[in-house]
Amino acid sequence: MEDCIFCKIANHVIESNYVYEDELVAAFRDMNPQAPTHVLVVPKEHYANIVDGVPAQTLAAMAHAVDEVAKAEGIRESGFRVIANTGDDAGQTVHHLHWHVLGGTNMGEGLMP
Ligand code: AMP
Repeated sequence: MEDCIFCKIANHVIESNYVYEDELVAAFRDMNPQAPTHVLVVPKEHYANIVDGVPAQTLAAMAHAVDEVAKAEGIRESGFRVIANTGDDAGQTVHHLHWHVLGGTNMGEGLMP
């Protein structure tokens, strides 16, 4: 999609700090990290969010990418959090589907601030 920053990063129109990539998905570091590991898993095709008709194959590729990121970052055993902000009430600011992978610190048990 024209003028979508994550389309551009996922497809190397703009380069970023990549952690993992395959045919369907790119994972790169968030520019404003909220934890020692903060990586965004993003499909190369444009979907606004997780309820925008995302094909099962793409969701499976994103789940695989999360696993690869967790392994690469050394947080697969210690644990990590995956967040998909969806729409205005969730505070979604970039309207291209992305999963935040957060880890490298103990985030406690609460979900809300
Ligand atoms: P959300 O609020 O879920 O839409 O999250 C968007 C995230 O994208 C934020 O954590 C931003 O810091 C991050 N972000 C925005 N632009 C970029 C960029 N060009 N490169 C890396 N991360 C970005």
